Amino acid sequence: MDQMILKVSSSLYDSVVPRQPVPGSLLAAWLPSRAFHGVQPRPHSTVFPTLPFPGAPPGAAGLRAAAPRPPGGGARRRPCHRAGPGRGLPGCRRPGSRFPQRSRLPSPRSGMRSEAAPQPGGLERFASPGKGRGLRALRRYAVGELLFDCPAYTAVLAVGERGSHCDGCFARKEGLSKCGRCKQAFYCDVECQKEDWPMHKLECSAMCAFGQNWNPSETVRLTARILAKQKTHPEKTQSEELLAVKEFESHLDKLDNEKRELIQNDIAALHHFYSKHMEFPDNAALVVLFAQVNCNGFTIEDEELSHLGSAIFPDVALMNHSCCPNVIVTYKGTLAEVRAVREIEPGEEVFTSYIDLLYPTEDRNERLKDSYFFSCDCRECTTKEKDGEKLKIRKLNEPPSADAVRDMIRYARNVIEGFRRAKHYKSPSELLEICELSLDKMGAVFEDSNVYMLHMMYQAMGVCLYTQDWEGALRYGQKIIRPYSQHYPAYSLNVASMWLKLGRLHMALENRPAGVKALKRAIAIMEVAHGKDHPYISEIKKELEDH
Ligand SMILES: [Zn+2]
Ligand SMILES: [Zn+2]
Ligand SMILES: [Zn+2]
Repeated sequence: MDQMILKVSSSLYDSVVPRQPVPGSLLAAWLPSRAFHGVQPRPHSTVFPTLPFPGAPPGAAGLRAAAPRPPGGGARRRPCHRAGPGRGLPGCRRPGSRFPQRSRLPSPRSGMRSEAAPQPGGLERFASPGKGRGLRALRRYAVGELLFDCPAYTAVLAVGERGSHCDGCFARKEGLSKCGRCKQAFYCDVECQKEDWPMHKLECSAMCAFGQNWNPSETVRLTARILAKQKTHPEKTQSEELLAVKEFESHLDKLDNEKRELIQNDIAALHHFYSKHMEFPDNAALVVLFAQVNCNGFTIEDEELSHLGSAIFPDVALMNHSCCPNVIVTYKGTLAEVRAVREIEPGEEVFTSYIDLLYPTEDRNERLKDSYFFSCDCRECTTKEKDGEKLKIRKLNEPPSADAVRDMIRYARNVIEGFRRAKHYKSPSELLEICELSLDKMGAVFEDSNVYMLHMMYQAMGVCLYTQDWEGALRYGQKIIRPYSQHYPAYSLNVASMWLKLGRLHMALENRPAGVKALKRAIAIMEVAHGKDHPYISEIKKELEDH
């Protein structure tokens, strides 16, 4: 929810993400979860033997045990992450999935794949009226059923998650080992390292050479990997059974000057940081590629919707958007999975949501237009039936005038945008003050359940989590959760992640009955969205047992 609508974390257009947080600033700060995961800084002492690194260039070393992360590092989040069920990347769309293929070899660590592969033939690509290409069901799907999954065509772990997640398979675990050469990439073991080497080698020596000045955006890093993958793997991949990367929409004709300029900045960064290992197509082709990535990239998020990285899932990108989606995309490592959250009948189009669905119709469509170049005509957008509740005005003896309401909505949007920027350079106490002042001011006109109030409460909760003020975070979370459940669809990752945060906060504060209740609410949603055997659910169940 950092961003108005996109759940996506950093905006794809947010191309320059400073790598070094300004001291004392809340660089993105999404923080909470880690504190409860038990993912602690690694002990200094463990040293893994250096392992031979097959295929590595001379000098590339083996793995070493991870060094402890810098203090506070575990809690930092990239600034942009959005948080919604749909999760997202900055600017990236987040749908995704692909068709299952029984013959596909499981990728080494996607041993995470556990459910029976979805039946091939249950889905087809078709021409969706008014929407271009789309995905359609050929049979009935029940709520919670897996429609298909899609391994990442390529993926990149967020810099802030290094050391707590494997750079190759995105597994979250302790005791990862680091690349002996750059000492900045971390892996489960040599196998993950080896598999990731064709991608990591684009950055390994460059990170050493540039030192503190190495700071390409995640979009640039992802795009470099696409170019490398297209070279090494020109034939169709298992991620492209329905839609190939080459077929991605670019919406080139709709880019305004500002977007074109941002793309030129990305191209300059690509040349600057990656030229040693790559040959590039000409500028025009690169503009198209970046535009394609901006409209078709996904952000990968964890169970609390913290940003983990960015990826390309071509088959998942085939799905069109609806604000009343019938599927949700979740992730197991770098595998995207698509499950039904409503019953789907044969012949029905399969829709996911590209954006955070908290906001009213006008805001959602502004976001869709800006990032994906279309407006939505779903039932929610046509009837606007949730807008009244989402923009709820306080009941006062003298109701505010229409002008006063309009002015307050304008104020709210400005505060949200200003806060998004302020997160990059203000201190936590300054940020909390912005939240409190704006909540006071808006509270004169808006009900507590108004989405603009909820947005600022969510930001305040994030700041409290960042500063480890668990009581403060809990207070905000408790005000957010009920209206959240009303505004979002029945199965929502935003709602599940809020229950999860509340449950973990209650547990940390020794209120076990409330913690159990909240964690069970999270599990109920996640069993449908993530599948009953997802590792996140096992972890939460373990938290329930341990307490
Ligand atoms: Zn791994
Ligand atoms: Zn390295
Ligand atoms: Zn809509």
